[in-house]
Amino acid sequence: MIPLPQSFIPFTRPSIDEATIAAVGDTLRSGWITSGPRVQEFEAALSQRFGGRTVRAFSSGTITLEIALELAGVGPGDEVITTPLSWVSTANVVLHRGARPVFVDIDPATRNIDLAAVEAAITPRTRAIIPVDLAGLPVDRDRLYAIARQHGLRVIEDAAQSLGASWDGREIGCDGDFVSFSFHANKNLTTSEGGALVLPADIDVALCERLRLQGVRRIEGGEMEVDVAGHKGNLTDLAATIGLGQLRQFDAFTARRRELAQRYFARLSPAAGTRDIGLGLPPADFIQSNWHMFQVLLPLDRLTLTRAGLIAALRERNIGAGVHYPAMHLFALYRAQGYGPGDFPHAERVGASTLTLPLFPAMADSDVDLVCAHLSDIVENARA
Ligand SMILES: *Cc1c(COP(=O)(O)O)cnc(C)c1O
Repeated sequence: MIPLPQSFIPFTRPSIDEATIAAVGDTLRSGWITSGPRVQEFEAALSQRFGGRTVRAFSSGTITLEIALELAGVGPGDEVITTPLSWVSTANVVLHRGARPVFVDIDPATRNIDLAAVEAAITPRTRAIIPVDLAGLPVDRDRLYAIARQHGLRVIEDAAQSLGASWDGREIGCDGDFVSFSFHANKNLTTSEGGALVLPADIDVALCERLRLQGVRRIEGGEMEVDVAGHKGNLTDLAATIGLGQLRQFDAFTARRRELAQRYFARLSPAAGTRDIGLGLPPADFIQSNWHMFQVLLPLDRLTLTRAGLIAALRERNIGAGVHYPAMHLFALYRAQGYGPGDFPHAERVGASTLTLPLFPAMADSDVDLVCAHLSDIVENARA
């Protein structure tokens, strides 16, 4: 009998230390709880992390992406190329701009957007590319930017999952065009809800700030003017205070995630001499990936259990698991745009069989061992 975990192991869980909790109390008592000095401090700390680039904080990763598209000049009639294997936010923001999300398939080796397919999908209407670093594994930035430069396209990096990941020895955010981050509760750094945008040098920072808050511009004599319909996308000082506390712990978080991912490989990889239960393992990148998620592909055609059944069986054993994500072109919203089954076979196969196992900095080594033992046991017993 494999022992059950003593308490429920969720698929993720934020780590908020006591110093952060105390700092949030200080902000609450300060008399200023919406956007103010803590937001500026958080933006400055992020900017420092990204080699001095301009960073603005927002209330979510989604509004950050939407404003980046607006600043990039994306509007009705334009096409934006992206991956169907992401959180729906990635494509929904394109629809909000009145533009068309053009999906292309993923590369099954990385589960990220297939850059050859990106190139093949470029038309005279293409305005931008939104790559996603799924699970924190970076898209090949050399090839991505070579394509963008050659075709005069803007890039809005959806780096919601890849804070702390790197490409070619440089952290994501330090280079590139627009880089968008999310600080949702499940992300590697959280502000509960929040986001940040790294701005390219040719973009008007004042316009970005106006788009963040109703388009309001201060003019002479202390009066205001509004000449663009801005959004309501500002971050609060309360949230920024959490973010500042998270930043102090962040490099340790990433190091711990990499260790845990390595332990998963040691327990699940047939090459490591363990029982082969037919799982598809993620790319074994322990240097560049920030291990936002540890995702396996289930051998569903060889099992008597569905994915939902397997998740329920894990839950009965006190283990949480998630699905990130079904291929989004199969959602009703995108079928109505003309997409359907068979369009992107790799994304469909990964989307239908992917399972996110628990991975978060406070997880113990023994938790990984338990998750692997129970998962193997359930899969063994469900052999068709
Ligand atoms: C979380 C996430 C977003 C959206 O971020 P929010 O802060 O929840 O709005 C966008 N894209 C990807 C890939 C994400 O994981």
